[in-house]
Amino acid sequence: STQPSSPVVGIIGSGPAAFYTAHRLFRNDPSIKIDMYEASPVPFGLVRYGVAPDHPEVKQVEHKFTEIATSNQFRFLGNICVGKDIPLSTLSQHYDALVYAYGSSSDKLLNIPGEHLHGVYSARQLVGWYNSDPRHQNVGLSLSRLKDLVVIGQGNVSLDIARIMLSKPEHLIPTDINPLFVQQLYKSALERLHIVGRRDLTSVSFTIKELRELFSLSSAKFLAPQYTSSLQFLSEEALSTFDRARKRLIKLIQSKIKDAQQNPPSSDPLQNPSRSWGLEFGLTPVEILGRNGQVEKVRFQKTETIRNESNSSEDFVEIPAQAVVRSIGYKSVPIPGMQELGIPFDTTRGVILNNDGHIAPGMYVSGWVKNGPVGVIASTMMDSFSTADKLYKDWLAREPFLEGTKAGWDGIRPFLNKPVVTWKDWEVIKGHEIKNGLQHESISEKFRTWDDALRVLHK
Ligand code: FAD
Repeated sequence: STQPSSPVVGIIGSGPAAFYTAHRLFRNDPSIKIDMYEASPVPFGLVRYGVAPDHPEVKQVEHKFTEIATSNQFRFLGNICVGKDIPLSTLSQHYDALVYAYGSSSDKLLNIPGEHLHGVYSARQLVGWYNSDPRHQNVGLSLSRLKDLVVIGQGNVSLDIARIMLSKPEHLIPTDINPLFVQQLYKSALERLHIVGRRDLTSVSFTIKELRELFSLSSAKFLAPQYTSSLQFLSEEALSTFDRARKRLIKLIQSKIKDAQQNPPSSDPLQNPSRSWGLEFGLTPVEILGRNGQVEKVRFQKTETIRNESNSSEDFVEIPAQAVVRSIGYKSVPIPGMQELGIPFDTTRGVILNNDGHIAPGMYVSGWVKNGPVGVIASTMMDSFSTADKLYKDWLAREPFLEGTKAGWDGIRPFLNKPVVTWKDWEVIKGHEIKNGLQHESISEKFRTWDDALRVLHK
């Protein structure tokens, strides 16, 4: 039989999952046509609005993505929120295949009383604020009144937040961090930052590189746990049951805690940075307490982990805090119209149900909305390759796809009544951001409102 013509593919999202899927599809067949729809006027998802500004090496992937975007077969369509600006059913009429790569736009909740008090933030809000995400510029946290910060959750995002909050502001200026946040940081009254986990020290989710970075800050001192009741150090023998990476991580935490216990900070302010941070274990948040609607402290129930089983005790502790950050994970939500198209969404896990990236005829999924909000850019890449390969293999095998017009964007454009941001437009936006950054010797200053970004395009 003759080779089928190349598919016309619509990708929803423009983060790592979207770009790596596009990259792999082009590698399989350079004649594939790809339209990439992005809700915000700018590309790159969490690489732009999640990854910490002092990790520019991680953001290098943007160069790779930019290379992909230069293909004649590729079209970027920014400022289009699928399901809101254009119905999903309309989109599905003009493509052979759609790839859902829209990440996680919501957050997991603690589901405890007091969670909605003033001063309780999601990690996304805080991270969005310092990364100049226009959706999170009104967090209303005044650092000059913040003495005690509690971060709930022990993953890399918690460490990012701690590191940024404890860094010397002048170290952050050359990055693309929000300059208004840096101004606040100069006035910061922060004294103590606690990173609190439910389980014991063997169960942390952060990685050793990020932890070392925090230990090496000269601007903040590590304190031994103050609220953890059953701190247990593992013997060499007990450690041998863990894999190498985890063993090294546990050993590092244990040795730093032992050090801190033996050398408590002296009271001489000249000898010590005035700021400290610490890790607390075995504490499950049960209530956030406040006064006049403002958070004052967090109440935790002590839990003991014995052979991987957590048992709650009747003991409680309260940690003072003028701000609390819940950093227990992002969460994906369905796009409006998905249910009508018969796309199965698991609302508990926050994922689209799929089989190796395949959902239904012509429907595929990549990234955090495929696997849940876990994994770094590298794992998202490998996984997106596998979705792209599956799509292309199905196409060659003449599996059923969407019965689309193959018109792609030309079929969609008449339905849209708002300005679209093309790749050229994005490059104009980026040029302005770099120019604005020069004024204070930073690599870039991102626009903090979508209006400001669109204004330079005269749209
Ligand atoms: P995303 O990057 O979230 O991209 C999804 C895109 O889809 C977004 O641009 C969104 O606007 C868009 N979208 C959403 N809904 C719609 C819609 N309806 N229509 C159109 N577009 C839509 N990994 C590392 O390797 N190193 C790090 O240092 C690192 N730091 C991180 C820090 C933080 C705070 C976070 C949260 C994550 C970090 N990660 C890091 C992980 C990394 O960001 C993720 O693995 C990766 O971004 C997931 O890619 P994705 O494409 O699935 O989702």
